[in-house]
Amino acid sequence: MFTITEVKTERGTLQYRRETLTGLSCRISSERIKRRIDLPQTMVYNPGNCPFCSENVATMTPLFPDGTRIFQGESVTFPNLYPFGAWHTVTVITRTHDVREFTHRQLLDAFSAQVTSLRGHDGFPSINWNFLPSAGASLAHPHLQGLVDPEPSFLATSYLTGSESYRREHGRCYGMDLRALEAGSPRYLFGDEILWTAHAVPLGEREVRGLLPVSQLSEFEPLLDTFIDGLARILDLYRRLGTHAFNLSLFFDREGHDHGFSAFCTVIARINPNDQCMSDSSFMERLHLQPVILTAPEELARMYREKMGT
Ligand SMILES: [Zn+2]
Repeated sequence: MFTITEVKTERGTLQYRRETLTGLSCRISSERIKRRIDLPQTMVYNPGNCPFCSENVATMTPLFPDGTRIFQGESVTFPNLYPFGAWHTVTVITRTHDVREFTHRQLLDAFSAQVTSLRGHDGFPSINWNFLPSAGASLAHPHLQGLVDPEPSFLATSYLTGSESYRREHGRCYGMDLRALEAGSPRYLFGDEILWTAHAVPLGEREVRGLLPVSQLSEFEPLLDTFIDGLARILDLYRRLGTHAFNLSLFFDREGHDHGFSAFCTVIARINPNDQCMSDSSFMERLHLQPVILTAPEELARMYREKMGT
């Protein structure tokens, strides 16, 4: 399902990895981790006049066309004021502005409200999260973003069309075959119904994927509780490894369509907020579209077993 080509350099071995289904590729350069750019998170985020803080959210955020917002537990959901999707919603996860650790309840309420906000909109849905400004969040106040688009994004397209041709060629579901492979691989982390694994061809540092046994958003709801259990464990691992900023995306097929696609969640670690504005995206990620990864997936799984005691 993927290939590895190794090149010996003067300072260790460089790997080129390529995922067969999508053609996506990355390089793994373990030596580069010695640069130690993963500084501890020290910044404190003051609310200022934050529109997502509880005293402002009712006056500074928009309403759905029917004049409502969705309130679930602490979370508040409304349309994005500056949408970049045909349907684009925002869920403020917590009342508190500067949050370092999320409770199961907070995450469950927020993801469940996202599902509610996307339901019934035709297109390709995804639920997304940029956590902290160094991961691209324009507001530090934790929030999820839901998109439903008539055309899937580049990554979603790669897996949708890839899964469709895979099924045509092999008569099987790619997502199910991938689960079978990862369950017995050195990248396996935990889980059965939702299988969490360090992705073999990472698109970002410490990438973890949660492989779902369903394809559509409407089938996700019964799995929400199990999903949040798993996600909370990944975020716990990240914290133990010193990672505070991350991106998350959760992809689904279009309702009522069958591309032989399995829904999945991907989480990548981002550089911690730092006062030097140091970034972890360079010409390789932005222009070559080929990420340079420091931690091999098999090494991440080893760190998981060590840090989480399993
Ligand atoms: Zn706030």
